[in-house]
Amino acid sequence: MDINGTYFWYYNICTRELWLMSRKIVPDQQDENIDIGRFIHEHSYKRKDKEISFGNVKFDVILDSKQGLTIGETKKTSKYSEASKWQLMFYLRVLKMAGINAKGMLLYPQERKREEVILNEDAEKALLEMEQNIEKICTCMKPPKIKRIGYCKNCGYREYCYS
Ligand code: SF4
Repeated sequence: MDINGTYFWYYNICTRELWLMSRKIVPDQQDENIDIGRFIHEHSYKRKDKEISFGNVKFDVILDSKQGLTIGETKKTSKYSEASKWQLMFYLRVLKMAGINAKGMLLYPQERKREEVILNEDAEKALLEMEQNIEKICTCMKPPKIKRIGYCKNCGYREYCYS
Protein backbone atom coordinates (compact mmCIF):
# COMPACT_ATOMS: atom_id res chain seq x y z
CA MET A 1 0.00 0.00 0.00
CA ASP A 2 1.22 3.47 -0.86
CA ILE A 3 0.48 5.27 2.41
CA ASN A 4 1.05 9.03 2.31
CA GLY A 5 0.78 11.82 4.87
CA THR A 6 -2.91 12.44 4.17
CA TYR A 7 -3.71 8.93 5.40
CA PHE A 8 -2.23 9.84 8.77
CA TRP A 9 -4.34 12.96 8.92
CA TYR A 10 -7.56 11.05 8.20
CA TYR A 11 -6.60 8.22 10.54
CA ASN A 12 -6.42 10.70 13.41
CA ILE A 13 -9.74 12.30 12.49
CA CYS A 14 -12.04 9.47 11.42
CA THR A 15 -11.15 5.93 10.36
CA ARG A 16 -14.30 5.72 8.22
CA GLU A 17 -13.21 8.79 6.29
CA LEU A 18 -9.79 7.20 5.89
CA TRP A 19 -11.36 4.09 4.36
CA LEU A 20 -13.59 6.11 2.00
CA MET A 21 -10.72 8.28 0.87
CA SER A 22 -8.44 5.26 0.35
CA ARG A 23 -11.11 3.75 -1.93
CA LYS A 24 -11.13 6.96 -3.97
CA ILE A 25 -14.74 7.59 -3.06
CA VAL A 26 -14.78 11.32 -3.73
CA PRO A 27 -16.43 13.58 -1.13
CA ASP A 28 -18.86 16.35 -2.04
CA GLN A 29 -16.66 18.73 -4.09
CA GLN A 30 -19.16 21.56 -3.65
CA ASP A 31 -18.69 21.47 0.11
CA GLU A 32 -17.51 24.91 1.17
CA ASN A 33 -15.12 23.51 3.78
CA ILE A 34 -13.26 21.59 1.10
CA ASP A 35 -13.02 24.72 -1.09
CA ILE A 36 -11.76 26.97 1.69
CA GLY A 37 -9.17 24.41 2.78
CA ARG A 38 -7.92 24.01 -0.77
CA PHE A 39 -7.77 27.77 -1.31
CA ILE A 40 -5.81 28.40 1.87
CA HIS A 41 -3.44 25.55 1.16
CA GLU A 42 -2.75 26.90 -2.32
CA HIS A 43 -2.40 30.56 -1.42
CA SER A 44 -1.15 30.93 2.13
CA TYR A 45 2.54 31.68 2.61
CA LYS A 46 3.22 30.69 -0.99
CA ARG A 47 4.95 33.93 -1.92
CA LYS A 48 7.52 33.43 0.83
CA ASP A 49 8.04 29.68 0.63
CA LYS A 50 9.14 27.09 -1.86
CA GLU A 51 7.04 24.00 -2.37
CA ILE A 52 9.15 20.94 -3.02
CA SER A 53 8.28 17.38 -3.97
CA PHE A 54 10.08 14.48 -2.41
CA GLY A 55 8.91 11.11 -3.73
CA ASN A 56 5.16 11.20 -3.38
CA VAL A 57 5.38 13.83 -0.63
CA LYS A 58 4.96 17.59 -1.16
CA PHE A 59 5.65 20.23 1.43
CA ASP A 60 6.73 23.82 1.93
CA VAL A 61 10.28 24.67 2.89
CA ILE A 62 10.06 27.31 5.57
CA LEU A 63 13.67 27.66 6.47
CA ASP A 64 16.87 26.12 5.13
CA SER A 65 19.76 27.45 7.18
CA LYS A 66 22.86 26.30 9.05
CA GLN A 67 20.57 25.27 11.90
CA GLY A 68 18.88 22.81 9.54
CA LEU A 69 15.85 22.38 7.37
CA THR A 70 12.35 23.26 8.52
CA ILE A 71 9.37 22.09 6.52
CA GLY A 72 5.84 23.37 6.92
CA GLU A 73 2.28 22.25 6.46
CA THR A 74 -0.45 24.88 6.15
CA LYS A 75 -3.87 24.27 7.66
CA LYS A 76 -6.95 26.40 7.91
CA THR A 77 -7.54 25.69 11.58
CA SER A 78 -5.62 24.46 14.60
CA LYS A 79 -8.73 22.56 15.72
CA TYR A 80 -7.31 19.37 14.22
CA SER A 81 -3.72 20.01 15.25
CA GLU A 82 -3.18 16.47 16.50
CA ALA A 83 -4.03 15.02 13.06
CA SER A 84 -1.94 17.69 11.32
CA LYS A 85 0.97 16.92 13.61
CA TRP A 86 1.04 13.26 12.56
CA GLN A 87 0.79 14.15 8.90
CA LEU A 88 3.85 16.35 9.29
CA MET A 89 5.65 13.70 11.39
CA PHE A 90 5.21 11.34 8.45
CA TYR A 91 6.92 13.84 6.13
CA LEU A 92 9.74 14.24 8.64
CA ARG A 93 10.20 10.48 8.73
CA VAL A 94 10.30 10.28 4.91
CA LEU A 95 13.11 12.86 4.96
CA LYS A 96 14.91 11.08 7.80
CA MET A 97 14.85 7.81 5.89
CA ALA A 98 16.59 9.66 3.08
CA GLY A 99 19.25 10.92 5.50
CA ILE A 100 17.80 14.41 5.93
CA ASN A 101 17.10 15.57 9.45
CA ALA A 102 14.47 18.27 9.55
CA LYS A 103 11.96 19.73 11.93
CA GLY A 104 8.40 20.67 11.13
CA MET A 105 6.22 23.71 11.51
CA LEU A 106 2.43 23.68 11.41
CA LEU A 107 1.12 26.92 9.96
CA TYR A 108 -2.31 28.39 10.67
CA PRO A 109 -2.36 31.65 8.69
CA GLN A 110 -5.95 32.51 9.58
CA GLU A 111 -5.07 32.31 13.27
CA ARG A 112 -1.57 33.78 12.82
CA LYS A 113 -0.20 30.79 14.64
CA ARG A 114 2.72 28.37 14.20
CA GLU A 115 3.51 25.17 16.03
CA GLU A 116 6.81 23.29 16.02
CA VAL A 117 6.83 19.53 15.37
CA ILE A 118 9.81 17.35 16.30
CA LEU A 119 10.27 13.74 15.25
CA ASN A 120 11.69 11.76 18.16
CA GLU A 121 11.94 8.05 18.98
CA ASP A 122 8.49 7.84 20.58
CA ALA A 123 6.91 9.60 17.63
CA GLU A 124 8.59 7.17 15.24
CA LYS A 125 7.20 4.21 17.20
CA ALA A 126 3.73 5.77 17.18
CA LEU A 127 3.97 6.38 13.42
CA LEU A 128 4.83 2.74 12.83
CA GLU A 129 1.85 1.58 14.88
CA MET A 130 -0.46 3.99 13.06
CA GLU A 131 0.87 2.79 9.72
CA GLN A 132 0.00 -0.82 10.60
CA ASN A 133 -3.50 0.21 11.70
CA ILE A 134 -4.00 2.30 8.55
CA GLU A 135 -3.09 -0.69 6.41
CA LYS A 136 -5.51 -2.93 8.34
CA ILE A 137 -8.38 -0.43 7.98
CA CYS A 138 -7.80 0.29 4.29
CA THR A 139 -7.60 -3.36 3.30
CA CYS A 140 -10.92 -4.22 5.01
CA MET A 141 -13.81 -4.96 2.66
CA LYS A 142 -16.19 -2.73 4.60
CA PRO A 143 -15.72 0.76 6.06
CA PRO A 144 -15.58 1.23 9.83
CA LYS A 145 -18.98 2.06 11.36
CA ILE A 146 -20.15 5.66 11.60
CA LYS A 147 -18.96 7.30 14.80
CA ARG A 148 -20.60 10.68 15.31
CA ILE A 149 -17.84 13.17 16.07
CA GLY A 150 -17.55 16.96 16.00
CA TYR A 151 -15.75 16.79 12.67
CA CYS A 152 -18.82 15.22 10.93
CA LYS A 153 -20.42 18.63 10.45
CA ASN A 154 -17.39 19.77 8.40
CA CYS A 155 -16.91 16.50 6.56
CA GLY A 156 -17.46 16.18 2.81
CA TYR A 157 -18.81 12.65 3.36
CA ARG A 158 -21.56 13.67 5.76
CA GLU A 159 -24.32 13.20 3.19
CA TYR A 160 -23.00 9.77 2.41
CA CYS A 161 -22.88 8.80 6.09
CA TYR A 162 -26.10 10.38 7.32
CA SER A 163 -28.61 10.27 4.46
S1 SF4 B 1 -19.33 12.23 8.26
FE1 SF4 B 1 -18.41 11.72 10.22
S2 SF4 B 1 -18.44 9.46 10.31
FE2 SF4 B 1 -18.78 10.06 8.18
S3 SF4 B 1 -16.75 9.99 7.27
FE3 SF4 B 1 -17.14 12.09 7.91
S4 SF4 B 1 -16.26 12.28 9.95
FE4 SF4 B 1 -16.46 10.09 9.48
